[in-house]
Amino acid sequence: MSSRTKDVYLVIGGSGFLGRHVVEALLARGDAVSVFDIVQRYHDVPFYMGDISEEEQVADALRKSGATCIIHTASPLHGMDDPALYWKVNVDGTQAVINAAVATGVPKLVYTSSAGVVFNGNDLIDVDERIPQPEKAMDPYNESKAKAEQIVLEANGKGGLYTVALRPAGIFGPGDRQLITGLYQTWQRGQSHFQIGDNTNLFDWTYVGNCAYAHLLAADKLGPPNPAEIARLKEELQVALPS
Ligand code: NAD
Repeated sequence: MSSRTKDVYLVIGGSGFLGRHVVEALLARGDAVSVFDIVQRYHDVPFYMGDISEEEQVADALRKSGATCIIHTASPLHGMDDPALYWKVNVDGTQAVINAAVATGVPKLVYTSSAGVVFNGNDLIDVDERIPQPEKAMDPYNESKAKAEQIVLEANGKGGLYTVALRPAGIFGPGDRQLITGLYQTWQRGQSHFQIGDNTNLFDWTYVGNCAYAHLLAADKLGPPNPAEIARLKEELQVALPS
């Protein structure tokens, strides 16, 4: 029998590819979940229409849904030529989510970052979360995701809010409208008649169901520091962790 405390979830970006899988995973284990998004695609859970860059809209959804945990998966799609939109939604919007969480007393925030925030143009082999962000981001999307991740992690433990950020690599699986679809369209348009590298390049992929599951596990573990658990991890991993 599980000993986890039951949370009430608000999935921000829950109409999207990953967000929908998070909603389905929560429903499958019997949790209460609502969605906040600028578009509605599903009608099986309570839905709050709004833009994360409007703090009051987020706060209103948090109050009405009774959420105790936010899973924030919202972002404009990668690959658009609109740096201002990325900054507005990912940076200002994520700050607004944090402000709304603190203002309404929500104690948990799980943020979907991206593996791209540490890409520096070189091969990254066997790295982990201790690798620093590069000085120059790959593109405006990743610059905004990196900044958003920073402000999420800096908010940890302040105003009664505990936070965590996850960095999935390219996500694939049912409902994908971007990654595999984009690669397929490139092939269909005959735009794949050249090759970069010698066919030995590697790239990380994350199955969407595993990615959603990771968000649930992160949410379940989030909370005030547990000194006994930190001591156990230090021992097990032989690394310096903050106390
Ligand atoms: P998606 O576009 O399918 O879903 C994003 C959702 O966010 C959409 O439903 C969209 O309407 C919503 N949204 C956008 N702007 C909003 C706003 N201002 N206010 C409220 N909602 C808004 O994208 P996805 O592929 O499911 O990606 C989910 C998250 O995972 C994103 O944060 C993305 O940066 C991250 N990520 C995705 C991949 C990938 O390969 N798809 C890889 C790494 C990280």
